[in-house]
Amino acid sequence: MTGYRELSYWLSSVDEPLTPRGALPGDRDADVVIVGAGYTGLWTAYYLAVADPTLRITVLEAEIAGYGASGRNGGWCSALFPTSLPALARRHGRDRALAMQRAMQETVREVGRVVAAEGIDCDWQPGGTVVLARSEVQLGRARAAVAEARAHGLADDDLVLLDAAQAAGRCAAEGVRGGTYTPHCAAVHPARLVRGLAEAVERRGVTLFERTPVTAVRPGAAVTPHGTVRAPVVVRATEGYTPGLPGQRRAVAPVYSLMVATEPLPEETWARIGLAERETFSDYRHVIIYGQRTADGRLAFGGRGAPYHFGSRVTPGHDREPRVFAALRRVLGELFPVLGPEAPVSHAWGGPLGVARDWSASVGLDRSGLGWAGGYVGDGVGTSNLAGRTLADLIRGEESDLVRLPWVNHRSPRWEPEPLRWLAVNAGLKLMFSADRAEARSGRPSRRAAAFSRLLGH
Ligand SMILES: Cc1cc2nc3c(=O)[nH]c(=O)nc-3n(C[C@H](O)[C@H](O)[C@H](O)COP(=O)(O)OP(=O)(O)OC[C@H]3O[C@@H](n4cnc5c(N)ncnc54)[C@H](O)[C@@H]3O)c2cc1C
Repeated sequence: MTGYRELSYWLSSVDEPLTPRGALPGDRDADVVIVGAGYTGLWTAYYLAVADPTLRITVLEAEIAGYGASGRNGGWCSALFPTSLPALARRHGRDRALAMQRAMQETVREVGRVVAAEGIDCDWQPGGTVVLARSEVQLGRARAAVAEARAHGLADDDLVLLDAAQAAGRCAAEGVRGGTYTPHCAAVHPARLVRGLAEAVERRGVTLFERTPVTAVRPGAAVTPHGTVRAPVVVRATEGYTPGLPGQRRAVAPVYSLMVATEPLPEETWARIGLAERETFSDYRHVIIYGQRTADGRLAFGGRGAPYHFGSRVTPGHDREPRVFAALRRVLGELFPVLGPEAPVSHAWGGPLGVARDWSASVGLDRSGLGWAGGYVGDGVGTSNLAGRTLADLIRGEESDLVRLPWVNHRSPRWEPEPLRWLAVNAGLKLMFSADRAEARSGRPSRRAAAFSRLLGH
């Protein structure tokens, strides 16, 4: 695959040519071999190398570091975890749920710390997140989110309810009636983060081979067409691409998220939109949307809604769905009429993220030395850092607080075989769209969407 710069606005705007590193030159031995050079693989390599510089760590990447979701995402390094706090509390108790949430909050600070320590130039801006309520129904959800947070031990400085003026003061979208704000998020240039991380691990002695697809992962070995890396620990860090590995077809469902970016907007436009602290933003609709003001003055804006593809297929063609791009542009125009009916979009792209059958992200290491992390849904920028630190502790046998968090060694059930998987995932996506439309028509919350969320354990 060539044309890596075309994969996202982010990859198009890094200051380096994205020339692939060399491929694996033949068989070799290592202490740890990691499959995949996105955030998960690279954070794992980073913390292992920091903890024990004598470890021989090899990372194998099918394309280039940051080829996957890590080079294409919305750039929210947030404390969001795919399983909600109430759902975690039901499964693991209130204290462990809160510990998980606090670990996620700490993770945002930890990423900021490493970015500074390693000199990674990735437009890091810890401006928090504003989630807007643009209808009475959405305002109800904002109030419920804050009440739920309080009931589970979070405070005003974790999540606060905003009135209409406060919310519009942060992000002056059309029809804002209120919202919520959390400080636990940083906007980041995601491709610069992942590319900078690849350089940081190399500086610490990790060996990274690119254009080296792994065809089989088994205890003690990662097999590629160029040779086999033998190591007592093999870590799978392939997220949405996992179904392409033998035996993993039903491990996660690759669901696509798509994005657009505008041209740089003039200061007068920003004066009307706001986001002065580069807060990341969203609203309380069901079908997730997310945006950030980039350091170079663009709006980068994305959402779900692309179909799941039969057989968990992941191919470059699925990154582009003109229908979804048009919808994103339309929503941008609705949110910010100052952009005009046709927001001036210069880039459009997408990528696969990984969804486990029970919607639970997990990290773990089994007795045979196989490690894994993923199933982050759309919340992997921060969570992958926590995963990397946790895997490093598990591999080194550290009895840390991290290895006691509730997601560690969780085993999600496998997805149904096709065609059930295709029917279920796409029915879920459709339901969320129709719930948003019904709510806009009736002004009442959708019971079906609420029931579906409960079914997913949210
Ligand atoms: C459009 C979009 C927007 C998103 N927005 C956000 C956001 O704002 N905030 C957030 O928290 N999360 C977001 N996410 C999710 C987040 O980007 C991911 O959860 C995260 O990047 C996952 O990192 P990863 O390293 O686990 O996987 P990836 O970044 O997908 O990396 C996996 C790597 O493994 C490689 N690979 C796969 N198979 C093989 C193989 N067989 N052999 C060798 N290498 C292989 C791939 O080439 C890839 O480089 C978004 C995702 C997308 C697609």
